[in-house]
Amino acid sequence: MTDPRFYMKTKDLNRIEIDRSAILSNIANLARLTGPRVKIAPAVKANGYGHGLPEMVSILKSAKVQYLSLHSTAEAEIARASGWSGKIILVGGIAPEDIDAVIRLDLEPTVFEVKTLEKLGRLCRKSKATAKVHLKLETGTHRQGLTENELDRAAKLLARYPEIIVAGVSSHFANIEDTTDHSYARSQLQHFKKLVAHLRQLGVKPRLRHTACSAAVLLFPDTYFDLVRPGISVYGYWPSRETYVSYKLKGGKNKILKTALAFYSRITQIKTVPADSFIGYGCTYRTSGKSKIAVLPVGYSDGLDRRLSNLGYVLINGRRAPIRGRICMNLTMVDVTDIRGVRPGDTAVIIGREGNEEITADTHADWCQTINYEILSRLSPTIPRYIV
Ligand SMILES: *Cc1c(COP(=O)(O)O)cnc(C)c1O
Repeated sequence: MTDPRFYMKTKDLNRIEIDRSAILSNIANLARLTGPRVKIAPAVKANGYGHGLPEMVSILKSAKVQYLSLHSTAEAEIARASGWSGKIILVGGIAPEDIDAVIRLDLEPTVFEVKTLEKLGRLCRKSKATAKVHLKLETGTHRQGLTENELDRAAKLLARYPEIIVAGVSSHFANIEDTTDHSYARSQLQHFKKLVAHLRQLGVKPRLRHTACSAAVLLFPDTYFDLVRPGISVYGYWPSRETYVSYKLKGGKNKILKTALAFYSRITQIKTVPADSFIGYGCTYRTSGKSKIAVLPVGYSDGLDRRLSNLGYVLINGRRAPIRGRICMNLTMVDVTDIRGVRPGDTAVIIGREGNEEITADTHADWCQTINYEILSRLSPTIPRYIV
């Protein structure tokens, strides 16, 4: 990763850098696990898990990836405008008003309600178009999915509307990353196989079967089928500690994932504050001695979680600068009393490495008692992203 100090010269107060080689190395390592016959459809929903969708499109165009997994037609518009000409699976489903965009942008929506097949079929017929869909099957997550007793009606509608092509059939695991006990995931997998067999009996023969998120790709070859949909691992993060432990217990190799995102801010002001002074809203912090406080132009609206108030730290000159007082909408105060040579314009590492110190989205997730997914996906899209 580029030395953060380099960016003192640029005008951005806050910036996010994406390490292209880390993403490409993660994709290559995931592909090594799945083998060459399995297609990879990286999940780049939520602005590429905060990494920037246009940036991820630019990076993934140079990987051997034929598909992207996105949530919505709005995201697909951005992916197409950013130059993605490959296939797109919409995992989030579609509303009737999205169907025009599905046809225009050549998207492959996930369908998990019988009535969607009917609407899509009628619209395709009217506009003399065809649409590829992925049928999502209910195997135990109870979020989206056709249940076994809906398959009959789905098959009848598909027979009535040859305009709808079943490109794939999918499901999603409920707790594969939450535990080292994978019995529920295994039961979901069995159920998936049974439903796919049932569909075949009804004359529906999807080309692609897919179930695997990152944890499944990292742990269970049985879940790969024809295509996998890894998200968090593409960005170099483990889905959970449990997944990492399970992977190590299976004898998995070290260092197959590399984090790719760094988030930098810059000091805009440094001030000396007397002992016994309050810092910030709510007077939640009071200096115990004369303190040197640096102000950063970054806050919770940028995705720096307010729960880090009086708890987290940033890195300045490779040293920890604790956050003092409450994080504001656009400003954060940090203590640099014991860090020498700090000047306005210096870089503060919010997420990233400096010297022997590293702050990751996992560090933030531990501080906030949430998951790395939430930390990454809530990084504000307004922060400029740079591929390095
Ligand atoms: C987001 C998503 C994934 C990716 O999950 P990760 O845990 O990030 O790998 C896979 N499948 C579906 C349906 C998703 O919504």
